[in-house]
Amino acid sequence: MANKSPPPPHVLLFPYPSQGHINPLIQFGKRLLSKGVKTTLITTTYLLNSTLSHNPNITSIEIKSISDGFDFGGYDGADSAESYLKTFKEVGSKSLADLIKKLQGEGNTIEAIIYDSMITWALDVAMGFGINGGSFFTQSCVVNSIYYHVHKRLISLPVGANNVSVPGFPELELWETPSFVQNYDPGNVWSEIVFGQFDNIEEARWVFTNSFYQLEEEVIEWMRKIWKLKVIGPTLPSMYLDKRLKDDKGYGFNLFKAKHKECMSWLNDKPKESVVYISFGSMLKFGPEQIKEIAWALNDSNVNFLWVLRAKEEGKLPNNLLDVIKSGKGLVVEWCRQLDVLAHLSLGCFVTHCGFSSTLEAVSLGVPIVGMPQVSDQTTNAKCLEEVWGVGVRVKADENGIVRRGSLASCIKMIMEDESGVVARKNAVKWRDLAKLTVDEGGKSDKDIDEFVYELSHKC
Ligand code: UDP
Repeated sequence: MANKSPPPPHVLLFPYPSQGHINPLIQFGKRLLSKGVKTTLITTTYLLNSTLSHNPNITSIEIKSISDGFDFGGYDGADSAESYLKTFKEVGSKSLADLIKKLQGEGNTIEAIIYDSMITWALDVAMGFGINGGSFFTQSCVVNSIYYHVHKRLISLPVGANNVSVPGFPELELWETPSFVQNYDPGNVWSEIVFGQFDNIEEARWVFTNSFYQLEEEVIEWMRKIWKLKVIGPTLPSMYLDKRLKDDKGYGFNLFKAKHKECMSWLNDKPKESVVYISFGSMLKFGPEQIKEIAWALNDSNVNFLWVLRAKEEGKLPNNLLDVIKSGKGLVVEWCRQLDVLAHLSLGCFVTHCGFSSTLEAVSLGVPIVGMPQVSDQTTNAKCLEEVWGVGVRVKADENGIVRRGSLASCIKMIMEDESGVVARKNAVKWRDLAKLTVDEGGKSDKDIDEFVYELSHKC
């Protein structure tokens, strides 16, 4: 009788429960699945019940939930970020351990847990069961290198008037560093989280990053000297890149309901490269003054625009202003399928807050960018896109931190009408082609994923 072949290796994926963090891990999971790895995504009970269950076709990956201590309200159900993160750790550690016990009790083997680099306690739980852990970074390598240098006290905070320097990257002026460096506040819980990502990283079996080699080559080479780094991005659905995973057309996970048909039919009517798409991700909230300046900038630019603006933000606009601008050349929606918008032929440029997912999506789809960074890693991503990758421009805020209509309108004009826009598009198309190559068969990211699967299967 022939020997029974061993079961496929099984990996648990554990993202931080927010849009920009879940998407990359779901996508990585789909790639693993296509290479014969059994994959289970772990999310919170709140997200599973409130969001994922509305999307029955979310993904081919199996999903399990654990409690973050806020089963009925999630992050917004907590009094503060501090209380959410503290409870998530306390309740989540126990709940994750219970889930592992249950899965093992049902006869499942678990070869690895790949967890969001911000959830360092997941590694402690994994090690308690003798399971290997892999830390997964959803932000750019240069941003993580800066945080690592702070963690190791190779950069001391506050940096004062000094520029910041890390291997393989041009010097950063203070305003270009992540906000946790720029405005150092030791009491800020998010500072603790980003600098603390490295607390137990030496014990992680693997380190993953959702970037791609060509995009951050020198920083990656430096990182490879200290970690067993797997560079596996960009984690866009396959149909936007190499098209090898036939069913992989979207992330499948949306915190908000997209006005997809409306957006597509509006875009279909627009000439090639004529539309400005403007969106600031899933979390950012602007005050009334900033919203008004954006609205006027779009109006003054006299371009077609698609603006993602949630109802609460819309309410911050003065009476009639939205009607005035909509009667011109704009469509305003609460949420869209961003990848389909960015991939549309009518797209001329993307005005973004420079969240890493949005930035990487634009770069991977060949769309020039006007960066309007606000907090966190966005300021450094904006430097990358303008100075390192050459795919766009950064708009500057005034001394009160507000981007004025004139500044935004002139950046939009630069990209939509001037020679600098032509150059930015040419560069973006070059990055798009490299992004496709890197995830396609034999590309650098594909090879890193293969190597991980080999190590997993051969327990090496
Ligand atoms: N996104 C989307 N529709 C929208 C706005 C955003 O699908 O109308 C998606 C976008 O494609 C990206 C994510 O939401 O994958 C936002 O992540 P990012 O890191 O850019 O920003 P964050 O929300 O974390 O600030």
